[in-house]
Amino acid sequence: TAHKLSFDVQLSDHARTAAERERVLANPGFGQHFTDHMISIDYTEGVGWHDARLMPYGPLTLDPATSVLHYAQELFEGLKAYRQVNGSIVCFRPYANAARFNTSARRMAMPELPEETFVESLELLVQTDREWVPTTEGHSLYLRPFMIATQVGLGVNYPSRTYKYMVIASPAASYFAGGVKPVSVWLSTEYTRAAPGGTGFAKCGGNYAAAFVAQRQAVENGCDQVVWLDAHEHRYVEEMGGMNLFFVYGDRLLTPALTGTLLPGITRDSLLALARDMGLRAEEGRISIEEWQAGCESGELTEVFACGTAAVVTPVGSVKGADRSWTVGDGTPGPLTLKLREELIGIQYGSRPDTHGWIHKI
Ligand code: PMP
Repeated sequence: TAHKLSFDVQLSDHARTAAERERVLANPGFGQHFTDHMISIDYTEGVGWHDARLMPYGPLTLDPATSVLHYAQELFEGLKAYRQVNGSIVCFRPYANAARFNTSARRMAMPELPEETFVESLELLVQTDREWVPTTEGHSLYLRPFMIATQVGLGVNYPSRTYKYMVIASPAASYFAGGVKPVSVWLSTEYTRAAPGGTGFAKCGGNYAAAFVAQRQAVENGCDQVVWLDAHEHRYVEEMGGMNLFFVYGDRLLTPALTGTLLPGITRDSLLALARDMGLRAEEGRISIEEWQAGCESGELTEVFACGTAAVVTPVGSVKGADRSWTVGDGTPGPLTLKLREELIGIQYGSRPDTHGWIHKI
């Protein structure tokens, strides 16, 4: 049985004033501003996790030969704390993030963190910096747990023997100011995000480093986001740069199955359950770009939406590739997209009942 870690608490002596905080919260953007504290826990092979602490937010000092800087042995998570309509502060399914963190850790040959410690670290940071949880509708406090390999040395024949786990927190506006606006997507046939046996299912920084060039190509082609296709044929839809995809055929929903090359989104999993609650058929399967285009052209495929922690549920309005382009429906948000979005946001902010036990009170 694991020894329960106790956190050393070192409060900041230079925390922002209420006025400074309110200025940030008036216009937080996304991932630009950070709260007054952070979590740090160290790991040493043979010892385990130690030196758990809450401390003032601030820079790290790393030896230039630190392993993570060279070999990218790193992983992260992303979830939000919400201020509910009754004033209480909650997280959405933090144990699901804890489990995915450990799935990523196993793939990256990194140590697992006990789920209880992961959740406790979030609770301690959010409780300490609770004034940073926005009260504005649709805003939230984005939590970013991550882990880096800290061993100093350039040897590449063995994983690091030491690691650091941290959590930082950043107030976030609603992702799309000015309502739910459909995004345009770019089909990436030139690049591959993940191959069988690779790290596609893990939330490791390297996946994102390899994706920037395609995201830039999407923007150069006038699109908002990249859509990744399978590595073998560049034909079957996998996911977007930071969101999973759903395809709506009347009252049937289809989302790409978790084949190991896409991230198992917690929003994706939640929407599969909510769709079934609503009496819809919700399936995991496979869809090619030809089927996507033909479905839109015949009218059989009525809505397509993306989903993830940051942007919740976002309609896809148009699709473009090197040799084709088409629109989805009439290019405006579909009714099922909006209904699922309302339902999920309602549970997160406390205006709808949490029948699945997804809400974790802080
Ligand atoms: N796919 C990728 C590549 C992502 O980065 C994310 C964001 N974590 C998602 C999907 C959506 O996952 P979640 O619903 O857990 O935020």
